[in-house]
This record gives sequence, structure tokens and C-alpha cells, in this order.
Amino acid sequence: IIALTKTMIEIRTLLQQAGNTTALIMPSIVVIGSQSSGKSSLLETIVGHEFLPKCLRSPYIFTNSLRGNNMVTRRPVELTLIHTPDSASEYGEFPALKLGRITDFSQIQKTLTDLNLAVSEWVTDDPIQLNIYSPRVPDLSLIDLPGYIQVTNQDQPDRLREEIELLCEKYIKPPNVILAVCAADIDLANSTALRASKQVDPKGDRTLGVITKMDLIPAQEGFEILSNNRYPLRLGYIGVICKVPPQGLIRRSRNITDLVTKNEQAYFSGHPEYESCVVGSLNLRKQLMRVLANSMANSLQATHNQVKKSLEQISYQYKVKYNERNLTPESYVAQTVDQIKSHFKQISSNLDRQKVRDLLKERINAQVLDLLAELYWDVQAHEPNMTDLPQAKLDDKYWKAKLETATYRLTRLGIGRLSTEATVDRVRELITQICNDSSIHSHDFAKQQVIQASEDIIEPKAYQASDQVENCIKPLKYEIDIEEREWDCARIRALDLISTEIELLDHVFEKIRESVGSRYLGKVTSLLREHQDEDIELLEGKSGYSLAVLEKGKEALRWKQRAELLHFRKRVVSGKQCKSVKNSSLCPEVFLDVVAEKLVSTAVMFINVELISEFIHQFPREIDHRLLQSLTPEQIESFAREDPVARDHIDLQSKKDCLEQALIKIEGIMARDQLSRRSRRNA
Ligand code: GDP
Repeated sequence: IIALTKTMIEIRTLLQQAGNTTALIMPSIVVIGSQSSGKSSLLETIVGHEFLPKCLRSPYIFTNSLRGNNMVTRRPVELTLIHTPDSASEYGEFPALKLGRITDFSQIQKTLTDLNLAVSEWVTDDPIQLNIYSPRVPDLSLIDLPGYIQVTNQDQPDRLREEIELLCEKYIKPPNVILAVCAADIDLANSTALRASKQVDPKGDRTLGVITKMDLIPAQEGFEILSNNRYPLRLGYIGVICKVPPQGLIRRSRNITDLVTKNEQAYFSGHPEYESCVVGSLNLRKQLMRVLANSMANSLQATHNQVKKSLEQISYQYKVKYNERNLTPESYVAQTVDQIKSHFKQISSNLDRQKVRDLLKERINAQVLDLLAELYWDVQAHEPNMTDLPQAKLDDKYWKAKLETATYRLTRLGIGRLSTEATVDRVRELITQICNDSSIHSHDFAKQQVIQASEDIIEPKAYQASDQVENCIKPLKYEIDIEEREWDCARIRALDLISTEIELLDHVFEKIRESVGSRYLGKVTSLLREHQDEDIELLEGKSGYSLAVLEKGKEALRWKQRAELLHFRKRVVSGKQCKSVKNSSLCPEVFLDVVAEKLVSTAVMFINVELISEFIHQFPREIDHRLLQSLTPEQIESFAREDPVARDHIDLQSKKDCLEQALIKIEGIMARDQLSRRSRRNA
């Protein structure tokens, strides 16, 4: 029958996982006793380690100086001991906290202390679950409750005493077994634990009396208590001495059970009075196992009914809500990864050759425009103006030199860096788009991985690609060969470029006109035209216009004159003079476009091979690796749980699974029970 306890504890754990223990009747041993009755020492003897909070050790008091009064905080500890005969290691687990295995019992002690301190009420009935695995513990489930307060004082007022009593009352209901801890040196008549248990279990059918500190009273007196005559309990009394022998001994042996039991044996065998009594913590252990197993056996049918009912409810919900569709964290993550990859596939068409080419051309065009604006289109420059250009045919050394400068600067701009940067920017935009996609926008972890994956692939490649591009455009720095056909195409594009620039200038001019006023601006600009070379501060005095207006007017005039120049250039570029490549120095807009076009073609080739096709190839693999292959089950679970819809689905499903497993186990026990009863009858 004791083997039953193990299975029942497994069932209890399953039901705990299913999250509805309170609704289910599974008996535990509830440990009650007054403060300092030796309750903690007793539990630690059973566990074999000190693990209950020391500084707060019942009565677990701490001062909350902010509120100015002393507060007691305590939570019940649901202690599940699991006997692990095949493993030498001893460890604890707080299943609700997911801290993993804790092999250092002082760490368990610290965690319990922290959990106690974190409670803001005086006491709370929200239990702390603690499982302890060890080859040296019996299979038991115990609930440690706050110690009863016997004498109230300023630190422990009546209110607190009452709350602790109420909490204990909740737990000592059937089918729980009550372990009433009483100190031998306190009169049993004063035992709060016995008094409380009497009220719910008058005959002591499910109350076991434990008398601690047996070493503190004369043996004759001890014998009388243990004889079960004064306050009889059906389950009787057991006497123990759980005082841990001196420190030196503790260090030598990590487990205190042996120390305590040896000490007890020595003591009790030295007092013949105890011969006929049940004494010692080893006997207590055995007795606890027996009593718990019995109680579990008795409540089996009730537990079965409860679990079955809960399972029916949950299965119904599962059908209605999810149509019984199976969802595991793994399948959820796999599905999300598929979505990421298919989204990536869709948007990676934005990285095709033509799109990248357009992108790079746009970036280089911006540079070309800057150069033109600086070297050719500056209307206020004093040197030979562009309006002179068409007449310069005969002696165009000046313009030749100028074009050389422009070409020199354009080809030495750092095209490698510029084009890779533009590409990397585009890739980042696309990745951001994926991150905003509904399938992962609630998954911060996944988003981070997507971003990191793309950075890790693209960054080292970007450096390489940049160098390659720079190397390959090198010849263009020294010589530009242009075919007539190339020139013709460039001429059309240059005209477009100029037109776009004109539009932009018109737009800027319009903006200024809106802010200054149309008539006003007209007057100011014509004044400025007349006094082109004059200082505007002087003009301010002369004209009566404010400096701010004059500044604006000057700016407007500048854009206007540039627009005029560009209109003129448009005519020139589309005219006879720019028809042939021979006149290239007189048609810098066309020439620079040819250069830009050549630079772009070369850059695109390498960017495509070195950067983009590699990226498109590697990214989905990297995502698989990061989000599927290298995640721990815990990470996969927390990933899936970030999505509230998936979380609810998975939770309900795992509840259902736990209940199903529990039911199978319960039915297994019941079947075995029936079988053994039948064979007993037959015998
Ligand atoms: P709790 O408040 O009920 O948890 O009691 P503790 O386990 O903290 O024990 C209260 C005090 O009694 C501590 O100083 C223990 O060392 C001491 N104590 C516990 N058990 C025994 C025992 O069997 N014999 C003796 N002499 N002292 C004990």
C-alpha cells in the first residue's frame, strides 16, 4: 500500500501542473504546531537538510519599518518529497518558479525567505510549492503551516494570531492527515495544535501526535504522554528528539537525518521507560508513510470522480474553442518560422538586380547632382559662367579641366562604401518589414533573432563587397571609354535629371513665395537683381526691407536663376551641340551620367554576387538555425507563450494532457486494487 503513495504523489504533481489542485481532493499531511514547538526541526530531520528560513524561522517575523508596526508574513509550504532510489543526487525544485534544480539547500532556504518576505498580507493561503528529490527521503506530501501564536504581544498582535488560526483551519479539513506537533516541555493541555485538531477530528482518526524535545523531560513523564491516555488519539503519539547535534558534526555529514536518529537511538535506549512506546523520527517516517497511503487509498474514488469531472469540462472547452486541434510550442514555433521565411521570400524580390541597380543609381545621381551644382550650376560664381559654355567650342581647355575634376571626384567618391551602404540599408528596411509582420510582432525574442541573423550575415559580406567594388571600378578612375549609343541613352537620362531638378527648384521657390508673399517677393527679387553685387546689409538701409526678407529674397533669386540656367541647359543638352560624345566637355550633365552609369553597372555586379544572393541563400538557413535548431525546450516554450492566443491554447491542452495522464494513473491503481481484492477473496 505504501507504493501507492508514490503514484499518488505523481498524480498530485500532474494535477498541480493542471493548475486546479484546490478543487481536487488529494490528501496531504498538514503540519501544525505552536511557534518553537520544534516543527521546523522535525521537517528538516525528515528532509535531511536545513532548508527552512532561519532568520524568519517561525514565527517568521520581520519588522516593516515603513508601516511602523511589526509584521508577520507567512505562506504555507506544500512540500512534496520524492524518493529517488536510483540517483544519488539530492535537490529541490520550485515548480511554479521554474528555477530548475537547486542542489544547494541553503539556496532553497534563501528562496523560501524571499518568497515569505514578498508577501504583503499578514498571512496568505497561497502556498509555495517545493518538491524535494532524494534517495533518502520517503515519498510524502506535507504542508507546513505557520506556527500558532500562543502569547500575543506588540510584535504579534491578536489579529495575526487569528489569521494564522483561520489559515490552519482551512488546511486541517478532511481528507488531510493532521500532524500535531507539541513540545514535550509544554503541558499538552496548552497545545494549540491538539486543540485545533480536536475540533475537526474529535477522535483523532486522522491526527497523529508528535511530541518533540523528548530530551527535555523526565522519562517517566515522557512515557505517560506517549501512552496515549490523557488526550487519546486513534493514531497515537510518537516521541522524537530533533535537536541537531553540535555544529562540528554537521560539517562532517551533509545529511542530518542520520545524526538525529543516532542521537535519538542513544537517548531512548538509555531510558527503559520508553521500551513500549513509539519513539524516534525513523518510526515517525514509517508511520507517516503508512497513514498517508491509507488516507490516499480511502480518497481514491473521490479523487477519481473529481479528475474525471474536470477532464470532461476541459475536453469540452478544448473542442469548442480549438476544435481539438493540436498545438505544441514546437509546432507553433515551426509555423512561425515558416511564416517568416515565406514573408522573406516574398519581399526578397525587392532585392532583384534591377531594383538594386535603381537604388544605387538613385544614390549616385544624388552625388552627381551635388557635383553639378557645385561645379557648374552655381549662378553666382565669378569664373566663366555656364551660359558662356556653348560659345566656348574653340578654346575649351577650361571646361575640359573642369570636367576632369568632376570625373575625378565622382570616381573617387568611395563608390564601394556608398553602394554597399545603400544595399545594407535596403536589407534592413526589408527586415524591419518582416519584424512588423503580424506573425512575429508579439515575439520580441524572435524579432531580435531575425535582426541579429541578418546583421551577422550581411556585415562581414558588406566589407568584402565594398572592397571588391572599389577594386573593380579602379580603371574608371583613369579612363572612360564612351560609345555613341551609350552617349545617346545618357543624354535622355540627363535631360530627365535636369527636369527633375527644375521641378525641385520650382517647388523650393514656391515655398519661399508662400512665406514672403507673392508681390512682396517680386519686388524684392527685382531689387536684388538690379543690385546683384551689393551687400544686403547696405541694401537694408537703402531699401527699407528687413534683413530677413532680403535674405529670403536672395535665396529665392538664387533658385530662380538656377532654374533659368537649367532651362537653358536643357535646351543645350537636347540641341545639336550635345549630340555627339566628341563635345563631352561642353555637356557635363551627359558625361557624368555615363560615368555614373558605368559605376553603377560595376557595383551592381559585385553587390549582387557577393552580398545579395549570398544573403538570400543564407538568411532562411540562419533563421532555421536560430529559431528552431538551437533553442532549448524552455526557450521554445516561452517563445510560443509570448503569443496570448497560442498561450491559452497550449495551456488548455497541457491541462488536458495532465488530467488525462492523472486519470490513467488513478484508474491503473483502482484496477490493481480490484484485482488484488479479488485474488484475496479467491484465496
Ligand atoms: P518551530 O518554531 O516550531 O519551527 O521550532 P524550531 O524547530 O525552530 O525549534 C525551536 C527551538 O527548539 C530551536 O532552538 C531548536 O533547536 C529547539 N529544538 C527543536 N527540537 C528539539 C528537541 O528535540 N530537543 C531540544 N532540546 N531542542 C529542540
